[in-house]
Amino acid sequence: MKGNLIILSAPSGTGKTTIVKKIMPHMERLTFSVSHTTRPPRQGEENGIDYHFTSKEQFQELINAGGFLEWAEVHGNFYGTSQEAVDQWLDQGYDVFLDIDVQGARQVNEAAPDAISIFITPPSWPEQERRLRDRGTDSDETIALRLNNAKKEMRDIDDYDFVIVNDELEQAAEMMKSVILAMRAMSRRDTTGTPLNIPDGDN
Ligand code: ADP
Ligand code: 5GP
Repeated sequence: MKGNLIILSAPSGTGKTTIVKKIMPHMERLTFSVSHTTRPPRQGEENGIDYHFTSKEQFQELINAGGFLEWAEVHGNFYGTSQEAVDQWLDQGYDVFLDIDVQGARQVNEAAPDAISIFITPPSWPEQERRLRDRGTDSDETIALRLNNAKKEMRDIDDYDFVIVNDELEQAAEMMKSVILAMRAMSRRDTTGTPLNIPDGDN
C-alpha cells in the first residue's frame, strides 16, 4: 500500500521540529523528507540528516532536471523537496512529513491533492519571539525577518486541513498523533495494509 504525504507548515520557531521528533519514535510507517537548502547549516545541524545543504548552482541544476516535487525561496534562501526520495518512501508504504512553507504547500496540494495539510501556530507572538531567541541559532536580524514572515504565513492558515496550536508540547504532540491516525482511517484512502474481508451479511 502506498503511503500518504503530510504537509506540515508553521512559522519558523513554532516548534514543528520538536513535535515531529517527539512523535516519530512512537509511530510506525512514518518518516520525514529531508529537504535541500541553500541556507548555511546551523550549529548542530548535519548534512543529510537535517537538510541536504547545497550550493545555489547545485540547487538550480536540480530545478532544471525536474528533481523537485516543490521548491521555494524562503527568508532569502532556497528550499526544495526531492521527488525521487519522497516517491521511494511512499512506494514502501511510509507516510511522509513534508516540512515546507506555505508556497511549497500550495504546489504539493496541486500536484498531490490527496495530501493532508497541517498548520502549527504559536500560542502568541511574544512566545514565538521568545522561542526563536531561546533556540539561540539566529541573529537579531534573522529573527526579525522570520517574525515578519511568520505574520504573513498565518494569512494562509485557512487553506490547511488541520490547525494545531503548540502551546503545551505534550498536548500538541498528542494532537498531531491523532491527526495522523485519523488520516490513516479516512475512507478515501486505502492505507491500512489490511485487505477488507467482511462477509456480505445474510449468513
Ligand atoms: P521549528 O522547527 O518550527 O522552527 P523548533 O522545533 O526548532 O521550531 O522549536 C523552536 C524552539 O522552541 C526550540 O528551542 C524548542 O525547544 C522550543 N519549543 C518547541 N515547542 C515548545 C513548546 N510547546 N513550549 C516551549 N518551547 C517550545
Ligand atoms: P529553517 O531555515 O528554519 O529550517 O526553515 C525555514 C522555512 O523553510 C520553514 O518555514 C520551513 O518549513 C521551510 N522549508 C524547509 N524545507 C522546505 C522545502 O523543502 N520546501 C519549502 N517550500 N519550504 C521548506
